[in-house]
Amino acid sequence: MEKIIYPKVGIREILKTFWKAGGPYKWLLFTVVFSIIVVNIAEVITPLYYKRFFDTVIAATDRLSTSESLIRIIFIIFGLNGIIWLGYRIATFVENKFLTAVSATLRQNAFEYLLRHSYSFFSNNFTGSLVQRVNRLARSFDRLSDKIIWNVIPLLVKIVGVGIVLSFLKPLVAGIMLGWALLFMLFNYAVSVWKLKYDIQVAEADSKTTGVLADAITNHHSIQLFTHVRSEVGLFRKVTEAQATSHKKSLDISAFVEAIQALLIITIEFAIFYLAIGYWTENIITVGFFVLLQAYILGLTHRLWEFSRVIRDIYESYADAKEMVEIMTLPHEIKDVRGAKLLSVQSGRVSLSDVSFSFNQTREVFSGFNLDIAPGEKIALVGPSGAGKSTIVKLLLRLHEPSKGSVMIDGTAISSVTLDSLRGAIALVPQDTLLFHRSLLDNIRYGRENATDEEVRQAATLAHCDDFIDNLEDGFATFVGERGIKLSGGERQRVAIARAILKNAPILILDEATSSLDSHSEMLIQDALDTLMKGKTVIVIAHRLSTIRKMDRIVVIDGGKIVETGTHDGLLANEEGLYKKLWMLQAGGFIQDTGGNTIARKRSRLSSQSDEEETPPETEEFTSPSHPTEGI
Ligand code: ADP
Ligand code: MG
Repeated sequence: MEKIIYPKVGIREILKTFWKAGGPYKWLLFTVVFSIIVVNIAEVITPLYYKRFFDTVIAATDRLSTSESLIRIIFIIFGLNGIIWLGYRIATFVENKFLTAVSATLRQNAFEYLLRHSYSFFSNNFTGSLVQRVNRLARSFDRLSDKIIWNVIPLLVKIVGVGIVLSFLKPLVAGIMLGWALLFMLFNYAVSVWKLKYDIQVAEADSKTTGVLADAITNHHSIQLFTHVRSEVGLFRKVTEAQATSHKKSLDISAFVEAIQALLIITIEFAIFYLAIGYWTENIITVGFFVLLQAYILGLTHRLWEFSRVIRDIYESYADAKEMVEIMTLPHEIKDVRGAKLLSVQSGRVSLSDVSFSFNQTREVFSGFNLDIAPGEKIALVGPSGAGKSTIVKLLLRLHEPSKGSVMIDGTAISSVTLDSLRGAIALVPQDTLLFHRSLLDNIRYGRENATDEEVRQAATLAHCDDFIDNLEDGFATFVGERGIKLSGGERQRVAIARAILKNAPILILDEATSSLDSHSEMLIQDALDTLMKGKTVIVIAHRLSTIRKMDRIVVIDGGKIVETGTHDGLLANEEGLYKKLWMLQAGGFIQDTGGNTIARKRSRLSSQSDEEETPPETEEFTSPSHPTEGI
């Protein structure tokens, strides 16, 4: 996998992403923040009444008249607690709505942006980590908002409130308390910043484990067939152990931070009371002041104790969000140009002129490649595997973009039209079709969203899907398993053909569209394909040369270059040509084969390089070999 180079993502980009999703709900956020501020102001004021309460009790001479004052005080405290109670309830319920709604929007935004990334983007990323990143973005927002609403804002309000109150009563105490709180926060902040790199390591190790896990589960079949369970377990052990190491380091640092915090708290409690006793001795403060101090120290340390966790959570959220926001700020590699027109295919001429293309800038596939396909022409691309046939298809669909030259349809560069209109004009039956874990009906309907059930069934019949669908217990309602795993390759291919029939686009591309079918099914489908091809520009890529004999033109490609071009008969006339060689390899031994081991015969022929059978298989009775020769 190529490493994707992401744009630099900082707090700004992350907040922008959050704001975009949260914008419509900003009134909810304001309500929550307002309630939380009111609650915390009330929580700073309440201890003042406790102070007054105790001072009143101690100064009491006449209990009866004092009790009236005391009752007044507890009524006020009751009222303040009522405000606190109400404020918390409002904040909680409104926050529930705010967090869930914004998380959903974030997921939707991430999903949509992700799906518009290019083909190469997905080839260079693990499915598992992408899934995780989308989820983590929402989780990160959830955590971040929660911490800010329930910890950061209360802490700020408390510090300011306590500072103001104490500075009216005893400025020195206020100074010490604030200085200490500042020291506490600075210490936490410094440690957290230093620890950030370990947190990012934890997140990365986490992603890696998920990636390996998902990759292995996707390939479980190969793992078992090649009996690689042990080596895969070994690989997984390596990544999970790396994950454990970085996780432990991060936890240890946190534990160390907590130890220092506890020391700081014990010290402030001692120092403040030591100072207060001095004041009390000099009769400067009352007993109520001790109560006030204790309430404030408790309130502040309670908030401050969580502060390191808050910073950690904020940074973790940052690391979590960063991974997805990177993807969301990475510009889409292939997108509509400004003012892109709709492609309307009139005649269906397709041309690649002077096209150069390399994978990942290094692996050159084409250099100055030219191919012109006339309107309605049916051409076949043949050549050894790796020649670049599928790449031509990808260039045509703009899954990749040429580094030089242009691809045109009806004289319009495909880069200047909208992707939707381009892809709407081309029906592709790919080499390997993956299906959604949805019903067969829905999977086939994917060819044309608004097709009626009847049309879907018709297309399925034309593509000979009914042969196997009728045998399924739930028929068209059968769910096909993840990626269509419950269907055979040939069955999936027929679904893909049915989709193409439904789509009925003016340009049709069959990339080894029948390679997984047995000869009998292929013959049946060939029928449907012939009908489908009528009046369309068609590009067929096929290993089995027998299937392309009727094409208007056959283009033989090798190593990204056109080496031969002509009709089937014309090409066969060239004894030295690659096409003739391929043809002989595939069919030469086949027509004379009478049920023996075809492959073995071919093998021996290949190794001896002798050509005893001189009759090329040009008879109509010819049936294609059911196993294409590897590598053609
Ligand atoms: P084929 O003619 O068999 O369809 P392709 O067009 O698929 O060949 O591939 C042409 C060349 O490009 C091959 O050498 C192949 O290995 C390489 N290639 C294909 N896809 C990628 C990719 N995503 N990244 C790098 N190289 C690729
Ligand atoms: Mg291919």
